[in-house]
Amino acid sequence: MAATTISPAIRKQMSSVAVAMKVAIIGGGISGAVCASTLARNGVSVTIFDSGRGPGGRMSQRREIGEDGKELMFDHGAPFFCVSNSDALALVHEWESRGVVSEWNQVFGSFDCASNKFLGFQQEGNANKYVGVPGMNSISKALCQESGVKSMFGTGIAKLEWLEEEIPWLLTDSKGENVGRFDGVVASDKNIVSPRFTQVTGLPPPLDLSLVPDLAPKLQLIPVLPCFSLMLAFKEPLSLIPVKGLSFKNSEILSWAHCDSTKPGRSTDSERWILHSTPDYANGVIARTGLQKLSNETLNKIAEEMFKEFHSS
Ligand SMILES: Cc1cc2nc3c(=O)[nH]c(=O)nc-3n(C[C@H](O)[C@H](O)[C@H](O)COP(=O)(O)OP(=O)(O)OC[C@H]3O[C@@H](n4cnc5c(N)ncnc54)[C@H](O)[C@@H]3O)c2cc1C
Repeated sequence: MAATTISPAIRKQMSSVAVAMKVAIIGGGISGAVCASTLARNGVSVTIFDSGRGPGGRMSQRREIGEDGKELMFDHGAPFFCVSNSDALALVHEWESRGVVSEWNQVFGSFDCASNKFLGFQQEGNANKYVGVPGMNSISKALCQESGVKSMFGTGIAKLEWLEEEIPWLLTDSKGENVGRFDGVVASDKNIVSPRFTQVTGLPPPLDLSLVPDLAPKLQLIPVLPCFSLMLAFKEPLSLIPVKGLSFKNSEILSWAHCDSTKPGRSTDSERWILHSTPDYANGVIARTGLQKLSNETLNKIAEEMFKEFHSS
């Protein structure tokens, strides 16, 4: 997972020079939110723009209504995160003290679809697994509400223009509206310069890459791995599964499954599982359908295939 930390030396420098700066941050996922919070704590006036309805990005939580009319919440993106960097760990401990993060202590394992056997029941690795509370998006949500941070959700940035003027950056949204002038811009998603933006929106990428030629080869190195998530709710616990999170070996369809309702701060009214497809399976679907919104027929077929693989494991 990407997150931004700033060394004490840079922080000191920023606090002396950045007092009046206005910075736009494109993306209210964890990277954009941490960046916004860090800049705002150092006196920068920050505006986050995100095309999504709320904060979180790929660390998001989805709300569904079950057949019984009850609300069901699912972390359908990143299920958890681990921390190896000491600066990032200090941030996570701060979030823990604010009640927006907790450790997720469960038994995790791995299942081999070739031999149809569990390969191990150990806690996967030694690293602590952390989750947002009550949802993975809680961290971004809290950071976006900090003093000095303004958030504009439902606002996709379609154009970034550099004007040779005192406040050089002009941002335009996907409706063609001018959304402000800024001294600096931070983009947390490479789609602002990627042809993928055009495949999804039909518009040219927001930033003309010829303005920043050094960036192009670096961005190409960042992989994009697609994934489908299937959200399942059961009235009764799946007692045959001896772990609460498992990776799959030798499956062409599934890479990971976890029991979302065992995370701290979640409702235990039902047992909720989330299955993730392998990138290869998702790439196969995208190769057939393109990147546009999928039909219900295709989505139902994906759900059936993923559930069948889970059920037969
Ligand atoms: C299924 C799945 C499982 C994962 N599992 C793990 C895991 O176990 N552990 C782990 O550490 N990580 C995991 N990850 C990866 C982790 O979720 C990401 O690395 C992390 O959330 C990325 O955060 P980010 O802020 O960099 O980007 P994102 O969360 O993608 O945020 C980018 C934001 O920018 C917005 N945006 C993009 N373009 C524009 C635009 N033009 N205008 C306005 N807004 C825009 C998007 O809407 C998005 O909200 C997983 C991800 C997925 C999808």
